This record gives sequence, C-alpha cells and structure tokens, in this order.
Amino acid sequence: MKINDASLEQMAVGPNQYPKTDLKEIAFAGRSNVGKSSFINALTQRKKLAYTSSKPGKTRTINFYRIDNCFRLVDLPGYGYAKVSKAMRDDWAQMIEGYLANRSNIIEIILLVDSRIEPTSQDREMYQWIVDNGFSGIVIATKADKLSRNQLNRQLKKIHTSLGCPEEQDILPFSTEDQDLIQETGEVLEDLLAF
Ligand code: GDP
Repeated sequence: MKINDASLEQMAVGPNQYPKTDLKEIAFAGRSNVGKSSFINALTQRKKLAYTSSKPGKTRTINFYRIDNCFRLVDLPGYGYAKVSKAMRDDWAQMIEGYLANRSNIIEIILLVDSRIEPTSQDREMYQWIVDNGFSGIVIATKADKLSRNQLNRQLKKIHTSLGCPEEQDILPFSTEDQDLIQETGEVLEDLLAF
C-alpha cells in the first residue's frame, strides 16, 4: 500500500466531533497496549503519526487518520485497562459503541490481539459484536516478532479457537519489525477499499 499523505484529522470523544462520512473508514479495536498505534505508524510508514506508549490506557479518544484524501484509519480507544475506574470503563464502552453503531461509512472493523496472549472475554465480546454486525471479522495478531515461528503458529491456532473464528478465516500475524507482514497487511486493506 503506497501512502503519500497521512495526517491526524480529528480526535473525538463524541459524535458531534466526528468528521463527515465522506470517506470510507477502517476501524481498529483492541485492548490497550495491543500495539494499535504502532500498527498505524508501521502501515503508514510514519514514525509518530499515532501516539505510542508503553503505558497502557492512554488513548481516550477516537482518532481519525486521513489517508491520501481517500479513506480513514480509525483508532478506537483501547479497552481492558484494569487500573481505571468502572465509570471510566463505561465511558470508553459508550464511546466505542456510539461510533460503531452509528457510522454508515465504516467498511470494516478489524480486531487486534496480542499474538502472545490468549484473547480475553472482552476480545471475544468485541469479535462477536463485529461479526454479529455483518463485518467479516478480520483479526490481526500483533507483536509476532516476539515469538518463534512454531510458537506463533500455535498461538494463531489458539486465538482462532478462542474467538470461535470460522474455519476459512485465518488470523493474520503482524509485526512492526517485519516488512513482509506490513506489506501483506497493507494489501488486505487495499482489497477492502477496492469494493
Ligand atoms: P496501543 O496502546 O495499542 O496503541 O499500543 P502501542 O502501539 O503503544 O504499543 C504498546 C507497546 O508494544 C509499545 O512499547 C510498542 O513499542 C510495543 N509494540 C507494538 N507493536 C510491536 C511489535 O510489532 N513488535 C514489538 N516487539 N513490540 C511492539
């Protein structure tokens, strides 16, 4: 995927701050610290487009990245950070649901999971919500470089089973350290955008 221009168009906490629905959007959901910011930076080949942090629970807004005046990548706030209050967790859930349930231009919601960790109940709920709402349920397993090839294959199978993915749907490995995987993921997004 060749990207010339990528910028943070909008950070939103509610629908009144969302950009117009004039461009297709691919949204990314996942636990905080799963590697969503790093993923967006790697795909767009920008080191600091999305904020990355080793401290989980930082992203509390929905971030809209405008790509080549052509489509948007949408970074949803990471869920599952234990050290925040229930009220704050409820706010996040509402923020995510408010976006996902009312946005006609979303073409796909992609779930990111950490390749080393078994999906949590929130990951499973998120995956179920995605497929129940008619999306194809693409799952990307991040930080693949942290596992050996054998370990990775075992983990991908475990994640597949745990989420209850259909037979024909593969979990896609991803690593910011692996140009081939970055390119393959870019091609998956290109295919989505082609329709
Ligand atoms: P976010 O909270 O989901 O946006 O997660 P970040 O993108 O901030 O990443 C969380 C941590 O995981 C950071 O320390 C990243 O450097 C690290 N990380 C993310 N992706 C990868 C990857 O593919 N490989 C490795 N080794 N580390 C990664």
